[in-house]
Amino acid sequence: AQLDTLDIIVLVLLCIGTIAYFTKGTYWAVANDPYGNSLAHQNGGLKSTKSRNILEKMEETGKNAVIFYGSQTGTAEDYASRLAKEGASRFGLKTMVADLEDYDYDNLDSFPSDKVVFFVLATYGEGEPTDNAVDFYEFINGEDVSFAGGTSMEEKPLSNLKYVGFGLGNNTYEHYNLMIRNVAKALVKMGATQIGEAGEGDDGAGTMEEDFLAWKEPMWQALAESMGLEEREAVYEPAFEITQRDDMDPEEDLVYLGEPNKNHLEGNQRGPYNANNPYIAPIAESKEIFTTQSRNCLHMEIDVSGSNISYTTGDHIAVWPTNPGKEVDRFIKAIGLESKRHSVISVKGKDPTAKVPFPSPSTYDAVIRYHMEICAPISRQFVSQLAPFAPNEDIKAEMTKLGADKDYFHQNVADWKLNIAQLLEQQSKGEPWTKIPFSLFIEGLHKIQPRYYSISSSSLVQKNKISITAVVESVEKPGAPHIVKGVTTNYLLALKQKQHGEPNPDPHGLNYALNGPRNKYDGIHVPVHVRHSNFKLPSDPSKPIIMVGPGSGVAPFRGFVQERAAQAAAGENVGKTMLFFGCRRREEDFLYASEWEEYKKDLGDNFDLRVAFSREGPNKVYVQHKMKEAAAEINKLLDQKAYFYVCGDAANMAREVNTILGQIIAEQRGLPESKGEEIVKAMRSSNQYQEDVW
Ligand code: FAD
Repeated sequence: AQLDTLDIIVLVLLCIGTIAYFTKGTYWAVANDPYGNSLAHQNGGLKSTKSRNILEKMEETGKNAVIFYGSQTGTAEDYASRLAKEGASRFGLKTMVADLEDYDYDNLDSFPSDKVVFFVLATYGEGEPTDNAVDFYEFINGEDVSFAGGTSMEEKPLSNLKYVGFGLGNNTYEHYNLMIRNVAKALVKMGATQIGEAGEGDDGAGTMEEDFLAWKEPMWQALAESMGLEEREAVYEPAFEITQRDDMDPEEDLVYLGEPNKNHLEGNQRGPYNANNPYIAPIAESKEIFTTQSRNCLHMEIDVSGSNISYTTGDHIAVWPTNPGKEVDRFIKAIGLESKRHSVISVKGKDPTAKVPFPSPSTYDAVIRYHMEICAPISRQFVSQLAPFAPNEDIKAEMTKLGADKDYFHQNVADWKLNIAQLLEQQSKGEPWTKIPFSLFIEGLHKIQPRYYSISSSSLVQKNKISITAVVESVEKPGAPHIVKGVTTNYLLALKQKQHGEPNPDPHGLNYALNGPRNKYDGIHVPVHVRHSNFKLPSDPSKPIIMVGPGSGVAPFRGFVQERAAQAAAGENVGKTMLFFGCRRREEDFLYASEWEEYKKDLGDNFDLRVAFSREGPNKVYVQHKMKEAAAEINKLLDQKAYFYVCGDAANMAREVNTILGQIIAEQRGLPESKGEEIVKAMRSSNQYQEDVW
């Protein structure tokens, strides 16, 4: 029988319904909606799919300046927001902040000369772009860039483009600030005009913030001149509108109490798990692995079975922290929000391009506890921004001075390692700061960042259990009123204590909310995701390897050795496996001492462990000394194309190891030292020398 019209209509409708059902969340949700809540809660309904055309977006929203960021840990993103804010308030620029990942770049050749583009780019690892800048970097730095306008390279396709650049790097790495340098080079080659100097911040020297502050003043002057902007007195305009929702109860299903996104809110977390979507993983096992009372190092086994999370040996696991209750309470009290801490609030960007960095509606308590980096060092610029909202004129004057005077700030704030609430309570002697708009905290404090840990297990041996080896951070400055307690590692310590039923599962009275929002982390759970790394064993296990990993730097090497021991036990031909480890004393912090003996049973003489105990003898002994002692052996293994790995402290150890390896090569082969250095450089470029440092 033939289908009649009604049948066809019904069929078509059914089809549409079915497709819609199966593609739900794939094509419907806004392309980059980390919280997956745009459909449900924002602007009351469906949004169109977001355009990737930056020019269109700027046109639509009336912008003349876009600040692109390439950010891994949030600092570049934070600087981008600060530049946007300052450009708008001081110079009347119509600014927007943009994630490089959210736009296409092939129309940069049509960028009009009355607009400006900023690039705030962090360099990551061995001179790599941050995850969100990979496509942009490949495009702009590629061999055959081609723009939509079709202008040839000889015709300088970007001759209308004005740009400002700032790079975030670390001088302890060889490719210091490579991103901004290479991007600037590529842009200029294509005819773009750089405004001011391309700034460079150095995390290695610990001067990032001051480098940024020193760079931006002359840059603003140059930009003002180039675009004919008039500077005016900056008046604070909140970027976010915060509405108290007295109509909503915090226990209501729609309110985010710390859940990272909509799936979590609805109680059905699902993968893929990534930097926007953690897996609430059970901690299968946790134990203390230092044998001293005064310091802690945790070994944890995170169970990822059933989650579809996979890893390979050498990858990183990210732990999503929760702020300690003690500091959340301090913060809430300092800004006089105690009576409202559990009130429901909706947060909306005043400008369509402003992204709210957490899901909404939520409560003050949840936002502060789960989304804001409230324990971190304070930015001097932020102190200036807070000054106008001081409880009285004297405090205002003092805050203004702290914000303006670099040395004064260092002596009175930075050197004491205060966090923001500690500073506020100290300045006002406990009087609450009720005049600070909450939006200013959303703008001025970093979004809390997951912390990375080098996975200390082998995926071959325990594919569903990820090991972490974490030293608990506790930094004390004599005479200071506070001891800095690392947010994540103390959170993990509290979880370990709870798991072991310790009478006081609360290190240092930090009072972490271990059960998570709505008790969703009850029973020892922690939110995590895995990030893949390039720190990898040779694919052929018969190749020799040399590993240098003092302290917690041994983490990935426990995974490496575990893997090679298993391969040897399975009858594979496993090459020499040499490990340099360093710690203070055998009886104090010799990590995995008994495990190494077990691995030795499988690897035999092919496992060569050399340990430097820095505080046992009259002289300090470090891994570097042990390397020198083993110079001939190291050189022999390198001749056999051994892979060389370094993990741990980036600032000193990794750099020294690099230097010493060059010296060993030169000495052993009778070459000048410069030649030794060159050989190490070449090893790095061919991945024979790999680093996992922080
Ligand atoms: P945070 O709260 O982040 O504090 C860290 C430090 O910042 C403090 O110790 C202090 O020096 C400083 N600080 C904090 N607040 C203030 C303040 N108010 N004023 C002044 N200074 C302050 N660590 C491991 O133990 N094992 C690993 O295997 C490991 N692997 C890593 C791999 C990678 C790729 C990276 C990037 C890092 C790795 N780390 C590892 C380090 C880890 O990610 C964390 O940085 C570390 O555990 C500290 O985190 P936290 O939240 O406990 O401390």
